[in-house]
Formats: sequence, C-alpha cells, structure tokens
Amino acid sequence: MNVDFLIVGAGFTGLTLAERLSNDLGASCLIVERRSHLGGNAYDEYDDHGVLIHKYGPHYFRTDQAHVLDYLTRFTAWRPAHYQILSWTKSRYWRFPVNLNTYEQLIGRSSTEEEFKAYLEKVRVPMENPANSEDVIVSQIGWELYELFFKGYTQKQWRKSPAELDASVCARIPLRTNRDDRYLREQFQALPAAGYTRLFERMLAACKNTKLIFNADYREVARSVNCKKLIYSGAIDEFYDYRAGVLPYRSLRFEPEHFTGAQLAEREAVAGKKGFWQPALQVNYPNEFDYTRIVETKHITGQTCEGSTIVREYPLDYQRGGEAYYPIPNAESQRQYQAYADIAAGETDIYFGGRLATYRYYNMDQIVAAALTLTEQIKLDWAAGTCRRVA
Ligand code: FAD
Ligand code: UDP
Repeated sequence: MNVDFLIVGAGFTGLTLAERLSNDLGASCLIVERRSHLGGNAYDEYDDHGVLIHKYGPHYFRTDQAHVLDYLTRFTAWRPAHYQILSWTKSRYWRFPVNLNTYEQLIGRSSTEEEFKAYLEKVRVPMENPANSEDVIVSQIGWELYELFFKGYTQKQWRKSPAELDASVCARIPLRTNRDDRYLREQFQALPAAGYTRLFERMLAACKNTKLIFNADYREVARSVNCKKLIYSGAIDEFYDYRAGVLPYRSLRFEPEHFTGAQLAEREAVAGKKGFWQPALQVNYPNEFDYTRIVETKHITGQTCEGSTIVREYPLDYQRGGEAYYPIPNAESQRQYQAYADIAAGETDIYFGGRLATYRYYNMDQIVAAALTLTEQIKLDWAAGTCRRVA
C-alpha cells in the first residue's frame, strides 16, 4: 500500500493531523491505532448500564485559544459545564479549590475576603520565584492549607513530594480569595454536546482519502506500507526501543461502580439530590484511601437516567509496556527525555506530536494547538519537498 502519511495513534493529535493534511494537501493518510477505538485517552463510552463515562479518567474540556475552539466547533456543538470539585478530608467535604468558602470551613464561622487576605498574608511563606510545587502552594496559602489539600494528594498521585515536582504541577490549581470555586481558569469550559467519541467520529468522517486500522501496532502494519512520512503520537521511549532508558511516567487504575436508582435513593442525603451518588462531579481524596478521586460524570453530561456510575481512580507505578498516563514534570525526567529529543532531532522523515511523543503534561486544547502548528510546518516542508521534525 502507498500512502503519503502513516499516522500512529487516533487521539486528538492523530485525527487533527489526518483531517488537516488530507484536506489541505490532498494527501493520503493511513491511521494505525493499537486500541479498538478512536480518541486515545479522551475516549468516552456508554457503560453496560447506559451511563456515559470517561473510560480513561475525567476529561474536562477548557480553552482560552480561539483558534482551537473554532477548529473543534466544526465537529461538535458544546454543552456548557460547571466542573465542580470538592475535597474530602477529616470526615467532611471541603469547598475546593481553596477559596473564601474553604476558609470559612477552616475557621468554623463566616468571614470576609479582607479577613481571608489578612490570614493569607500572615501564613504564606513569601518567595520571589517558587521553584517547585511545594513552594508554589505555601507561598500563596501557607503550610496548614497545603498540608490539608496538596501534600498527601500529590504524594499519592506522583509518589513524590511536591518539592520534587515542577511548580507547574500544583500551579494548575487556582487559589482564590473570593467565592469563585471553578476548578479551571480558562474562559471556555464545556463538553462536546454528544460526547468526545462522537466528536472524534466526525473528525474522522471529515478526513479525505484516509484509512484507519484498529487493534494493530503500527510496526506490524508498517512492513507492508510504503509511506513518505511517519507521524508518531505514541511514547517516544517506546519508539526508540528504550535505547536511552525507560522514561518515568505515572499510570492509573480505574474502578467503575454502578448504582441503581433504588440504591441512589439511600444516598440522597449525601448527594444532596436525587439520582446521584456524591454531591459534586468530582471529589478529591488528599489524605484518606488509596484512590485520589471519585468522578461521577452524570453531573456534567446532562444524562437523565435513573442510575449512576462512579469511577474511583488509583495511581499506579508505571512499568515498561504498561499504560503511560502522565509524564512526570521535573528536571530529572526532562533531562532523560532530552536524550530522546536529541535522537529525534536527527530524523528526516518522522514527525513527533502529542502528549507522550513530546513528553509534555498537556491538556486537550494544548494538544490540538500543537497539532495545528505541526500541520502548518508539515505543509511548508511539503511545499519545499523536505521533511523536518518538530519537537
Ligand atoms: P493519546 O490520547 O495518548 O493518543 C495516542 C494514541 O496512540 C493512543 O490511542 C494509543 O493507543 C496510540 N498508540 C500509541 N502507540 C501506538 C502504536 N505503537 N501503534 C498504534 N497506536 C499507538 N486534558 C484536558 O484538557 N482536560 C482534562 O480534564 C484531562 N484529563 C485527563 C485525565 C487523565 C487521567 C489523563 C491521562 C489525561 C487527561 N487529559 C486532560 C489530557 C488528554 O488526555 C491529552 O491531552 C490528550 O488526550 C492527548 O492526545 P494525544 O493524541 O496526544 O495522545
Ligand atoms: N492537586 C492536589 N490536590 C488536589 C488536586 C490537585 O495536590 O486536590 C495537585 C496534584 O499534584 C495534581 C495536580 O495538582 O496532580 C494537578 O491536578 P489536576 O486535577 O489538574 O490533575 P489531572 O486532572 O491532570 O490529573
């Protein structure tokens, strides 16, 4: 078989590139996907009880990038979402991320923004340039709130102290002195109205001259394919047969549990409304239990079914060949990744794109933005008759 682009992976990266290159260049594409479905880790599905769940962990779409939103809006309508997250510790639910309501819970009475700001001024550890995830939190809210909500969660999730991780990890979580309890900062926060998988199906349908093979490793398929360029969105250490060592990742185990309408009736006092198991979309467990969070997607999908499904998420050590869900953001792993980036820089007919090929803790919108940028670069190379790798 002859194709212009052999694309490895049918996640946001692979589908964006196939859609753009096949339409803009009239190029032929073959996508090879190891799993049995589209969408990579953003795939969602109806479970055996008919409840829409995010199979590989909760995926909350958000963006401030207009061009990414414009692009994806070609393939989906949006359902506005309020991603409400609580934290559970010391036998109670806490308002989270830290805001004035959380402070009131801490001191056990009502308060004001001024009083909360004065408290923070007193307890925070002033620092000009927070160097790691511990610094970034204690420099804003002090040790007590850090130990309540961040220290244990981070240790459980990464099996590292926050002091051993880049500041960017815990800096993902906003800290506010007003009552705004949105978990995310971005302006646009919504879900694809008919789910992520429908969005991916529509991206694939918009591809021209593109074939897709599921349940296959690209290495098996590549032997019988003659392609001009390879676009790779899998893990970069695996691509190079781990010749510069196995990169550090964190893995996860997801444990779904379904509850019938009758079972949920007994939880009504906890959930605060009929048909739900817990009072918010997501509850974080920084200190108790082996799981980090419990997610109940029915809170944001708008499904009206009687039952509901929750998913407990357990962090796992990564083993070579297992599911690499998170690159680990710190200087040591970046140094290890750099060895692969240096090898990849010498490639002439291979492009690397996506969360694992570029070893970046990227959200979906950042991934789509990077794929659109890579498309433009490939178009230039195509016009010039060359091929250059983009890191
Ligand atoms: P992937 O989705 O990993 O797709 C790569 C694909 O390549 C996979 O399907 C894989 O099977 C395939 N592949 C790999 N190797 C081979 C091979 N050798 N042969 C064939 N196929 C191969 N982002 C947000 O914006 N909001 C969130 O709330 C959010 N939550 C997340 C929660 C979790 C638990 C995780 C893990 C990620 C989350 N993300 C979130 C990030 C989001 O999943 C990624 O940014 C995005 O899905 C990355 O897309 P990708 O195409 O680069 O990679
Ligand atoms: N975090 C924490 N406590 C929380 C929530 C998050 O310490 O209750 C830290 C933790 O290190 C986590 C990081 O902030 O890995 C980013 O959290 P986010 O919810 O954005 O993680 P993701 O959804 O990407 O797993």
